[in-house]
Amino acid sequence: MSLSDSVQVLPGVGPKRVDALAELGIHTIEDLLTYFPYRYDDLKSKQLNEIQDDEKVTLRGTVATEPVVSFFGRHRSRLAFRLLIENDVVPVTFFNQPWLQKQIAAGEELAVYGRFDGAKKTLSGMKVIQAAEGMDAIYPASKSIRQSTIRNLVEAAWAKYHDDIQTVLPAPVRTRYKLLDRQTMIHDMHFPEGNSDANAAKRTAKFEEFFLFQMRLQLVKQADRIESGLAIDYNIDQLNALIKTLPFELTGAQKRVVNEICADLKRPTHMNRLLQGDVGSGKTIVAALAIYATITAGFQAALMAPTEILAEQHAENLQNVFEGFPVNIVLLTGSTKASVRKHILPQIKNGEINLIVGTHALIQDEVVYDQLGLVIIDEQHRFGVHQRQILREKGTRPNVLAMTATPIPRTLAITSYGEMDVSVIDELPAGRKPIKTRWLKSNQSDTALSFVKSQLAEGRQVYVVTPLIEESEVMDMRNAQAIYDRLRTDFEPTYKVGLLHGRMKNEEKESVMKAFKANEFQVLVATTVIEVGVDVKNATVMMIYDADHFGLAQLHQLRGRVGRSSLDSYCLLIADPKNQTAIERMQIMTETNDGFVLSQRDLELRGSGDVLGIKQSGMPEFRVGDPVADLKMLSIAQEEAIEIANTDGWDEQPDNQALSQYLNENWTGHMAFD
Ligand code: ADP
Ligand code: MG
Repeated sequence: MSLSDSVQVLPGVGPKRVDALAELGIHTIEDLLTYFPYRYDDLKSKQLNEIQDDEKVTLRGTVATEPVVSFFGRHRSRLAFRLLIENDVVPVTFFNQPWLQKQIAAGEELAVYGRFDGAKKTLSGMKVIQAAEGMDAIYPASKSIRQSTIRNLVEAAWAKYHDDIQTVLPAPVRTRYKLLDRQTMIHDMHFPEGNSDANAAKRTAKFEEFFLFQMRLQLVKQADRIESGLAIDYNIDQLNALIKTLPFELTGAQKRVVNEICADLKRPTHMNRLLQGDVGSGKTIVAALAIYATITAGFQAALMAPTEILAEQHAENLQNVFEGFPVNIVLLTGSTKASVRKHILPQIKNGEINLIVGTHALIQDEVVYDQLGLVIIDEQHRFGVHQRQILREKGTRPNVLAMTATPIPRTLAITSYGEMDVSVIDELPAGRKPIKTRWLKSNQSDTALSFVKSQLAEGRQVYVVTPLIEESEVMDMRNAQAIYDRLRTDFEPTYKVGLLHGRMKNEEKESVMKAFKANEFQVLVATTVIEVGVDVKNATVMMIYDADHFGLAQLHQLRGRVGRSSLDSYCLLIADPKNQTAIERMQIMTETNDGFVLSQRDLELRGSGDVLGIKQSGMPEFRVGDPVADLKMLSIAQEEAIEIANTDGWDEQPDNQALSQYLNENWTGHMAFD
């Protein structure tokens, strides 16, 4: 008998239930015992004078009047009676549960769970309690399985298996953080006596979940290191010679991440690293140095960007950086002409070309590399796991450096990118002028537009962003077309206005962006489709209509489209926010330009789940722990896991026996790596 037994061993679990449980991710007894309630109803009765206003409580007393049901509307009803509790009479009402009338009779003892109104001394009933006093665990259920069924199964599993539960957290860790043994934790998660039991159990459950997750991560990384990769024996003198030619001094953060990357390259193992840095933090030059290091060792490098315009921009920048150095660079995208392709493919194959910049055209089958040593993926969240995989498998497991501008707090990034190591550029180049951000009400938008006009008069270009393309009466949002029409009336023919929206085909979007970059028009009206990373140095104003409809992350990314030169830049937020959170978002934007500060504030304002594209970035979902609210615990669990997993022979140590066995038996856990 072991916790890895199938749930089938429990009475009443046939094939149908097995399927229903499987839908909830429950296959084994272990899964069932760690399928925790998401809340508890406190069924213990309290003295009337101990109850807070609006508190959910159980009241126990004698039914003083026969329950009366009155119907109103089509399906609505109200059941009312009085409950005598010692010398107090409390009116109780139940809405839309007329059937309860049969269970309630004057003169009988009864316990009712509900919400207490302290002023009126009335109870709004939620359920009639039959069971003994205690805490009632409420489980996430599904269409095919009821929550009371889950509770019964948990009880049956507990009764049969509780002696087999081994504590997996090593004793020293448990002592250090005052955590419960696993048996107590599992018991108290499901059957707590009161809130303090439940809370203590939850604390241990969260820690265990984070810790096991981090242990698995560390072990995956170790396995990755053992499998050999390419050692890039680069020439440090040549690399320094390139650094000397840069028109600026690298920031401390850039130096640090370049060192991290170079150390990885040199090791005969496979690099899998995420480079994270706010817009404008200078990721491109870091990429360039990694590329050049690779090339000095005689290998090729490839850089893949999500769109043609970004690929072209990178190719152009890199061309400049490598001026006079032995780097043979080509651009390879979907619009590369067949005749050109025919010419360059053999040169890629024989190694004459040592740097290939492009879009997914890079990963097509016909593209065969000579010795691909490094792959860089820009804006990595834009590529599917599959595309990243193909590129990684080109050649002999090349080193991979992924770049992203999504500012996720460091600890979260470590979790969200799972198996990757993370390098963070947390410093902007010196002398960068902060973008001046102003928040204006919609009745001040004329002021904003006259400011726009003054910038146009100085020869600058302007982005005007609006959330929606279609007219939406309900939300009263302006649409891009209407704004486009209005601005054309205002500005043309002196200045030209362009339009970019989500309904356009990719090629259309790219040609509009290119025309804007070439200053063929001066005002670009756009829905949010402006590419992250597009660099139009002459654009100095980002004006955003209905700014309260965007999240902080989006606002920050949009703002990052300006301030890309030594010119003064501005971000104008036009918004009439309707609630406190939206007001705070506008204020935060005017207070800071720092993406990491913003993302931290965003976490605080929004809570987890929904933060800064964390969902889209492939953040694993935890069952009990909340990586945002419990960030501190997550990072402590990580430190402990790193410490243990990196100790030679950790799995031989007596303290770690149960842990090691548990990880062997439950390898995947609930990791959402895909
Ligand atoms: P991002 O991280 O958004 O990709 P880029 O690499 O495009 O940022 O860099 C933004 C701008 O800053 C570029 O024009 C680049 O030349 C410049 N830059 C990069 N590093 C430095 C530095 N250390 N000092 C001054 N300017 C720098
Ligand atoms: Mg960039």
